[in-house]
Amino acid sequence: GAGPGDPGLLTVRGRQLLETAEVVVYDHLIGPQLLALCDAQARRVYVGKSADERSTSQQRINRLLVRLARQGRQVVRLKGGDPFVFGRGGEEVLALAQSRIPFEVVPGVSSAVAVPAYAGIPVTHRGLASSVTFFTGHEDPGKRDSSIDWAALARSPGTLVCLMAVGRLPGIIARLRQEGRLDSTPCALIERGTWPQQRTLTGTLGTMAASARHARVQAPAILVIGNVVRLRPQVRWAEQRPLFGRRVLITRAMEKGSQLAEQLMALGADVTALPTVVLRPVPLTARTRAALAQIPQTDWVFFTSAEGIVWLQDVLRRVRKDVRWLKGCHLAAIGPKTALSLRRLGLQVDFTPRRYQQEGVLKDLPRQRLQGKRAMLFNAAGSRDVLEQGLRRLGMQVTRVPVYRTLMPRALQARVAAACAISWDAVTATSASSAEHLYQALPKRKRRDFKRLPFVSIGPITSAAVRARGGRVVAQAKQATMEGLVEALCRYLK
Ligand code: SAH
Repeated sequence: GAGPGDPGLLTVRGRQLLETAEVVVYDHLIGPQLLALCDAQARRVYVGKSADERSTSQQRINRLLVRLARQGRQVVRLKGGDPFVFGRGGEEVLALAQSRIPFEVVPGVSSAVAVPAYAGIPVTHRGLASSVTFFTGHEDPGKRDSSIDWAALARSPGTLVCLMAVGRLPGIIARLRQEGRLDSTPCALIERGTWPQQRTLTGTLGTMAASARHARVQAPAILVIGNVVRLRPQVRWAEQRPLFGRRVLITRAMEKGSQLAEQLMALGADVTALPTVVLRPVPLTARTRAALAQIPQTDWVFFTSAEGIVWLQDVLRRVRKDVRWLKGCHLAAIGPKTALSLRRLGLQVDFTPRRYQQEGVLKDLPRQRLQGKRAMLFNAAGSRDVLEQGLRRLGMQVTRVPVYRTLMPRALQARVAAACAISWDAVTATSASSAEHLYQALPKRKRRDFKRLPFVSIGPITSAAVRARGGRVVAQAKQATMEGLVEALCRYLK
């Protein structure tokens, strides 16, 4: 079970299996962010069906699963919501059982409960509803020998939740009214629940069919009928989030656990990632080797990015050393994230400035006793030399050692023009190079689109890089951190 849409609603077990699957067979409501959890080598097989699915296609899926499993592959069958709730997961595992193929069933968060929850509707509630009935709207309510007992549904005092509600909505409502359910019964119709595009219509059994037609509600949607709908005005939360439905382009990788993407999604944003920067190792030159040999005689070591220490370790490994080589050096980090990546290695950080940029380091560094001391900077090739020059002016002997390079990802060129043509609510810029690469990757005749993008930048240096290319900075973080950026974004989009 993949859950109802919000990628955060995948279970831990579901995630583990996705990450290790060799083949993933998935349906049409599965979002790209879940598929991104799969291993890059994993084969992805789309078997989406439209609303008028035919049983033959289900049989094809069953056969496909058996065939893949017989090839000895680790197969994940990824289905929306819970696999056994109107998901035909039962048929699929029966086919596997008949073929003696071992399987495991991982339940998912069903849209039947999660979608109402995201609309602020508890499906049961003391005093309002002590039962809930889930039923499919797929069946023709006019049919004589229906497998749904419409009279019983209409009489039930509890909540009714109808899945696959869109196609036959007027018929379903008419039938329930005909069987005696009151016109005044509260109703909610929730389209694309848990997604950033979630839309909720409320009304009564008497008004809902007309409202749904008017609003052109489309699948997937869920109809909730009953008094619990009255709780929505107090309980609604998802649509109230500060970035709900806002389309935000982030110009960095949506790597696993990408803090920025996760924070923005938790605030309700519709996040798309367009990685503009990849990090690569540098060649190990004689100069670098000589510099590394000097580490034990160094008084202060400066890190200007969280990545610096990661790549320094890579370089040290190549000369058969490790972080113990930094023993005795004072360590300075440009900001909290850099400090954290040092502390994670068990290293104590001796200095972090108040403003998280190279200028801030120079301003706050305890100036006494720096004269004549040795400093070493580990950073990206081609990065700004403000700190290097400033430390020299303070009388330090400075060695700068590039430990990684930032490059433009090859895939950027293919995607950039289409991405820049979209009208985003905000585009995040988290480094000068991300803005630079975005601009450079655009074909010349499309560069005008760059000027239209509403950039939210992490700090003054990045803002300057955006503006230098004619770009527009609509907001800038007060502190140069991801939290600062998120805060600036919320402020701007409020
Ligand atoms: N196994 C799935 C249901 C599959 S039937 C589950 O447990 O959620 C498909 C129906 O589920 C859709 O027609 C719709 O009624 C409902 N559905 C699934 N995802 C939804 C979503 N994000 N918003 C609203 N309805 C959804």
